Amino acid sequence: MQTKILLPESEMPTHWYNVIADMPNKPAPYLGPNGQPVPPEAMLGIFPEALVMQEMSGERWVPIPEEVREVLRLWRPSPLYRAHRLEAALQTPARIYYKNEAVSPAGSHKPNTAVAQAFYNKQAGIKRLTTETGAGQWGCSLALAGQMFGLEVRVYMVKVSYGQKPYRRSLMQTWGAEVFASPTDMTAAGRQILKAHPDSEGSLGIAISEAVEEAAGRADTNYALGSVLNHVLLHQTIIGEEARKQMKLVDEYPDMVFASCGGGSNFGGIAFPFFADKATGSNVRLVAVEPSSCPTLTKGVYTYDFGDAVGMTPLMKMYTLGHDFMPPGIHAGGLRYHGDSALVSQLYNEGLIEAVAVPQLETFEAGVLFARTEGILPAPESNHAIAAVVREARECAKSGEAKTLLFNLSGHGHFDMTSYDRYFSGQLENYEYPEAAIQESLRHLPKVG
Ligand SMILES: *Cc1c(COP(=O)(O)O)cnc(C)c1O
Repeated sequence: MQTKILLPESEMPTHWYNVIADMPNKPAPYLGPNGQPVPPEAMLGIFPEALVMQEMSGERWVPIPEEVREVLRLWRPSPLYRAHRLEAALQTPARIYYKNEAVSPAGSHKPNTAVAQAFYNKQAGIKRLTTETGAGQWGCSLALAGQMFGLEVRVYMVKVSYGQKPYRRSLMQTWGAEVFASPTDMTAAGRQILKAHPDSEGSLGIAISEAVEEAAGRADTNYALGSVLNHVLLHQTIIGEEARKQMKLVDEYPDMVFASCGGGSNFGGIAFPFFADKATGSNVRLVAVEPSSCPTLTKGVYTYDFGDAVGMTPLMKMYTLGHDFMPPGIHAGGLRYHGDSALVSQLYNEGLIEAVAVPQLETFEAGVLFARTEGILPAPESNHAIAAVVREARECAKSGEAKTLLFNLSGHGHFDMTSYDRYFSGQLENYEYPEAAIQESLRHLPKVG
């Protein structure tokens, strides 16, 4: 009975997979304030040319630079596990596999793109990077990557998380980054928010506005985004490519692939390489899992909206809850984003992938069951994928179907123990679906065309 399915370093993928090559329709373009498609040059103020090219590319395979592979080899290829003990606890005939991205130094999948982004910025002569972080996973990942390539990193951390996750902050500082609680009074965007809401706990959208503003204002500084954009999803496809090879090693292929979905890079990372198989007749179902309190795909609208809170980014056609939607302070900080990747959104809109929303208590229940069977303590974000897999495995127990289920364990939860404490002491709640707040926010959608 094999538990870990390992790939040797020599089998680490040499190219990223670009799902755009296999999408039935071209992605909707990003639009500027005038409603016209944004020319690539317009993005050069905050991104290096190589990443702008990747953002627009339709090439199926994009080579991974050797310098990037060298750093990724510190933890990649990551192991694939068969969850024998979880299966036994659920008394399910389903076969459950998970890819473990918690083995990266920062403890999640996010360094896969952080390393690539830091490399291309370094190559372009950039000295500093700014970014936002919610729970701190992305800030840590970029801090780590900045260290690897000798770049300064400044992180705007959502205020509510800055208070809840002090050790994430220390980890970023260990890797040499500067960290500020957002909204700050250091940027016009931050000051504008503080004027309207002096007690603002911040949001990813606000922190993005601050980081973008700073990068746009300095020639030596670029901005790095941890999810949402096409090039970020591209860099994460190394997860699904490895998983596909690993499943092949044990003669398996998934019926369903699950991943938690905030901005979409975790989901795209594991799911897109399997999407490629649909062209050759695979019926694999790809399921994005989100919180019921921030139900972007399942309750949002598919329209053009800003990626940030104050409207500095281009307009992206995506599922959105409105760019000024303030999600409840749930404990999966990485999933509190009002929008979603344009690629994930378009595939969902065309019925090519699926989405489900799960309430907070069910996610922790599933995460604790996972820790007690498989041993690894998952990040609250990852608990969403686990909860959806547990639901499906229980269905299999009822129907007797032996489905093969694969999910991405996007990170460990060692810095999230306050959230687990709350769960154990009964203080964690299921937030109601914030319909009124979403309706209010949707009223402020930008008018296009
Ligand atoms: C950020 C994060 C997610 C969500 O990632 P997206 O790519 O934005 O969907 C999921 N799990 C963990 C552990 C994360 O840190």
